Amino acid sequence: MSDTIFDKILAGQIPAQIVYEDQDILAFKDISPQAKIHVLVIPKKKARNLSELQSWRADEVGTFFQKVAAVADKLGLANSGYRTVLNTGREGGQSVDYVHAHILGGESLSGHFA
Ligand code: AMP
Repeated sequence: MSDTIFDKILAGQIPAQIVYEDQDILAFKDISPQAKIHVLVIPKKKARNLSELQSWRADEVGTFFQKVAAVADKLGLANSGYRTVLNTGREGGQSVDYVHAHILGGESLSGHFA
């Protein structure tokens, strides 16, 4: 699997505005924010996209999603609410082939999937 920009952020080879890190995940600000708060969460164990998570153990997948929610809590979004997005593949609009959850919030988001 070739290195993506997120592999390089994880390896510390390029900078990112990290908001949270632990043994399982890294969360950092999106470079082109689509909402007042826009953070990306990646698992340290690499997968290309959501589809590939089917080959993970259920507890690994569960840990990832629990930690996405925990990052949203740490960002202060638990009460106000927020949107999570996972784009998969070309037609899904995925531009970086390293699975990542978008957390968008800090304002009222229009529409359902805008
Ligand atoms: P996606 O289109 O779902 O693959 O999302 C990729 C996201 O990564 C986009 O929202 C980009 O703005 C964001 N992005 C690309 N390069 C960087 C970077 N170096 N640091 C932070 N976010 C990035």
